[in-house]
Amino acid sequence: YQAKRDRTGVEVYESKRDSNTPDRLGLLADLRRALDAHEVQLHYQPKVRFDGKVAGLEALVRWVHPERGKVPPDEFIAIAESSGLMQHLTEYVLETALGQVAKWRAQGLFVPVAVNVSPRDVHTPGFAGSVAARLARHGVPAGALQLEITEHVLLEDPQRAADTLAGLTGHGVKMSLDDFGTGYSSLVHLRRLPVSELKIDRSFVARLAVDTEDAEIVRCTVDLAHSLGLLVVAEGVEDDETWERLRDLGCDAVQGWLVAAAMPPDEMTAWLLARGSRGWQRPAAALPAAA
Ligand code: C2E
Ligand code: MG
Ligand code: MG
Ligand code: MG
Repeated sequence: YQAKRDRTGVEVYESKRDSNTPDRLGLLADLRRALDAHEVQLHYQPKVRFDGKVAGLEALVRWVHPERGKVPPDEFIAIAESSGLMQHLTEYVLETALGQVAKWRAQGLFVPVAVNVSPRDVHTPGFAGSVAARLARHGVPAGALQLEITEHVLLEDPQRAADTLAGLTGHGVKMSLDDFGTGYSSLVHLRRLPVSELKIDRSFVARLAVDTEDAEIVRCTVDLAHSLGLLVVAEGVEDDETWERLRDLGCDAVQGWLVAAAMPPDEMTAWLLARGSRGWQRPAAALPAAA
């Protein structure tokens, strides 16, 4: 079934196989134009702790194609990655996210933002220095930026990837390991990557409340991460029961539709301002206990 198949990483190869069909080339050209025209947007999704405090936001790219409508990020990112456009897309995303962080800070909202970066970015020479320069240009402290990477950064030239990541953490940028548990997760990677946070992939979280195997996998991952001093975030939390299970398993924070889906920057601002320092409260938890 889908959830199990998601973990094999097979789709990664499938999406690369037909990377040069006219359709994909057309989409690539359209994406290039959309970036130049600033038609690509970032939405933001909160990561919240179990006391409701907002731990940070994740920036997620959104593209509405004039004829095709919404194009899923997974789709156009795969295309950008198989071409020279990925670097351009990442620069655009970093630039937009840091501009937004600076705006929020000026409004008194000191919330860190996570940006997803692809393996290709980590292997771009000078990447760590360019991120540091961009932070300085926006007057944003490095601690306000987090980069989400996947274990795929170690597929090719792991030493260079490790050097770049060490450069980034040396500047004070926090690293998060995304989609943990998918593909070819290995304990060696956890030792090799200078990450301070681990995100458990949605494919394990989705059926946590009904699948005892998934629950065991999550339990072990949380314990392993904690013993290595990492914070654990669960992705794709959609219901109360999953929230409660994750809290009981000692997970540190959650992200998912139960709390909020990714939203445009203005909505995110209103969401943050409305909740203030109390953060997010579960609707059920806000109800008085039955007498
Ligand atoms: P990701 O980084 O693992 O992001 C989590 C995905 O799960 C997002 O999908 C998010 O909208 C979705 N999600 C969040 N909560 C829930 C939930 O409760 N239920 C369900 N079913 N889904 C939920 P999205 O935005 O479609 O992004 C997909 C992937 O595309 C991301 O996975 C990330 O790998 C990539 N991506 C997105 N934006 C960027 C970007 O700016 N740069 C790069 N390099 N990759 C990006
Ligand atoms: Mg992510
Ligand atoms: Mg993820
Ligand atoms: Mg994911």
